[in-house]
Amino acid sequence: MPGFELWNDEERKEVNDVLETGILMRYGFDGPRKGVWKSKELEEEICKKFGCQYAQLTSSGTSALTTIMAALGIGAGDEIIMPCFTFVASFESVLSVGAIPVMVDVDDTLTVNPEAVRKAITPKTKAVMPVHMCGSMADMDALIAICKEHKLILLEDACQSIGASFKGKALGTIGDAGTFSFDFVKTMTCGEGGVVMTNNKDLYVKCDGYTDHGHDHLGADRGADLHPFIGYNYRISELHAAVGLAQIRKVDTVISIQKKNHAALKDILSQVPEISFRRIPDPSGDSCTFISWFLPTEEITRAVIAELKAQNILAGNFYWYDNNWHYIRKWDHLKKSITLSALHPDLKAQVLHHANKDFSASDAIMGRCISTAIGLLWTEEQLKDKAEKIINVVKKVLQAQKITA
Ligand SMILES: *Cc1c(COP(=O)(O)O)cnc(C)c1O
Repeated sequence: MPGFELWNDEERKEVNDVLETGILMRYGFDGPRKGVWKSKELEEEICKKFGCQYAQLTSSGTSALTTIMAALGIGAGDEIIMPCFTFVASFESVLSVGAIPVMVDVDDTLTVNPEAVRKAITPKTKAVMPVHMCGSMADMDALIAICKEHKLILLEDACQSIGASFKGKALGTIGDAGTFSFDFVKTMTCGEGGVVMTNNKDLYVKCDGYTDHGHDHLGADRGADLHPFIGYNYRISELHAAVGLAQIRKVDTVISIQKKNHAALKDILSQVPEISFRRIPDPSGDSCTFISWFLPTEEITRAVIAELKAQNILAGNFYWYDNNWHYIRKWDHLKKSITLSALHPDLKAQVLHHANKDFSASDAIMGRCISTAIGLLWTEEQLKDKAEKIINVVKKVLQAQKITA
């Protein structure tokens, strides 16, 4: 799954270019940097590879989300509709600009349910933020239609779905803007890093300034830059961008290995009629970082996870329902709105309200779901062995269920 599995001399070469000059910062030092501009180069490569007009690198996927929310003018009192199955960064970034995260149910795509989005729209709704979880896509046709109808911003959190597409367009480039994360476990990594992608020049210019203390970046002298608005430091470093440059050239390889291994794994898992699979709105666009599958009940799923653990073969199989990072069930800090700095009382009340709603429709899906990470370095035998061990565990659990039933 992660790009770090393909780490080699190509990353070392790019990093060495930066070490040679010693200019670790992406801006300024035009002379001593001797023409080495890794961050700029990576931004250009991202635009070419994923098909967007503008790309702004940031220090992380989380700061990319914060940055684009600020650029979109999302702030106090605004409601952002997002799924209850995602990574914590999605709601963290909404809170970081003082807006209200409105979590809604997911469906069997493991992404936001368009009908739940519709029901959550209020006069305060400003944006819909689908999260393309586990390498595959939300139902973009439905979400585009909803956002058009209600004049809402469509912001794609594509942090987990680098290299995936919907009807030929890269995820992250379909809405008003989108983000990738290049943290260490993503499809391509910079160690830490992220990017905002958009076709809107005004948004891009705002992102460019926001990530660098509001600098306008118009002159040659950084010290003389003007600051049209207040920004922060969410810059990426040249060292991180250098790693990303080597990694972006490997994305096609990563995706093609994942697709091949995913297909082989699916063939074997399909032998068990009780196993069903995640619905994928455009199967040809799945980046196949994971294969996500369902069992008939939560009880069976829990028993399968317990048996995988007992046999010491759980690694690489994720039961998100019990996971502290990805599903609302275990977001106790959000449900209690525990923050270090005080939230405005109105915001706090809204956070508490939305985090403690009924998510039983999502529970019914997530409680039965297992995602198996697709390895890049598996041999055919290893893959077969893994898949067969999994289906043997499933068969054993199903058999035991029949006996007790
Ligand atoms: C990884 C991730 C992020 C945040 O990225 P970081 O680079 O780790 O800050 C945001 N959203 C989702 C869905 C992610 O998986």
